[in-house]
Amino acid sequence: MAMGRDNSGAQKVLIVDDSATNRQVIGDLLQAEYAVLLAKSGLEGLELAQAHQPDVILLDVMMPDIDGYEVLRRLKESERTSSLCVVFITGQDSPEQEERGLLEGASDYVTKPFHLPVVKARVALHMQVVRQRRMLEQLANIDGLTELPNRRQFDAALAAEWARAGRTGRPLSVAIIDVDFFKRYNDHYGHAMGDHALQLVAKCLRKRIQRPGDLVARYGGEEFVVVMPDTPLEGAIEVAEKLRLGVEGLGLPHKRSSAAICVTVSVGVATTGPEAVTSAEVLMELADGRLYRAKKTGRNRVMAA
Ligand code: GH3
Ligand code: MG
Ligand code: MG
Repeated sequence: MAMGRDNSGAQKVLIVDDSATNRQVIGDLLQAEYAVLLAKSGLEGLELAQAHQPDVILLDVMMPDIDGYEVLRRLKESERTSSLCVVFITGQDSPEQEERGLLEGASDYVTKPFHLPVVKARVALHMQVVRQRRMLEQLANIDGLTELPNRRQFDAALAAEWARAGRTGRPLSVAIIDVDFFKRYNDHYGHAMGDHALQLVAKCLRKRIQRPGDLVARYGGEEFVVVMPDTPLEGAIEVAEKLRLGVEGLGLPHKRSSAAICVTVSVGVATTGPEAVTSAEVLMELADGRLYRAKKTGRNRVMAA
């Protein structure tokens, strides 16, 4: 059950307690700041945790159906809920409950009867930890210069899409995009201008990737990659050509390029299906080989065979 006004942007707290009074008191205390979810049993709590991924769960220990320890154990078992922050609600006279809860993976506890300012302060503290952890996870997956997903995130996405394509039998395509004569660009215009050019290229690629399933990432240096689920070779070539034209269309002057008068990219494209592609790595190698051929045959072009 949800409580209070629609706090859609707010962090979520789930209160699992068989006592209606406790749910009411804590719910009232927190609903101004958080989206509050209420569960009157352990099983209902598990369901809501799965469905809503609350940031913090306030979990009563003593409950009639399954107790708080069992709820915690099941939360830890499921990948979707294993890292949620759990704060136990224990009886004041039971340090054993506190000890056991903390040992089994709870982050903290609050004691009954509630001293409300303390409950509020503890919840706020855990909410902050959750927010900061999420920020760090984000930073670890984002390239600092271009703000595109980094190679790490790309590798994870490619692995997931590879597995999915295996299940569905749908084609999966990748494109590797490499800026042409970029060493010369740096040498001529300076590294700062080089960085700026990479930012503009990244922005251009992101803008032109329109299907929600597609992911464009910075692979490293002046190389970018796109993973395109559910996309056969012709579709991938079309996307790659659009990206190539987009970068050329930026019209960033590049006096030292032998391929054009402005910054351009070469692209290698590969797809599962027609060839015997046995792994995501092989798929990437195939695309990389074609990128190499695009470079050898004049640059500023897409190579897909
Ligand atoms: P090609 O057309 O064959 O790809 O030539 P290239 O010069 O682009 O290729 P090469 O791999 O020889 O050089 C890539 C250059 O990209 C080297 C490096 O100076 C530059 N580069 C890589 N990462 C960055 C970056 O983050 N910022 C800047 N400014 N330059 C970078
Ligand atoms: Mg390169
Ligand atoms: Mg290059």
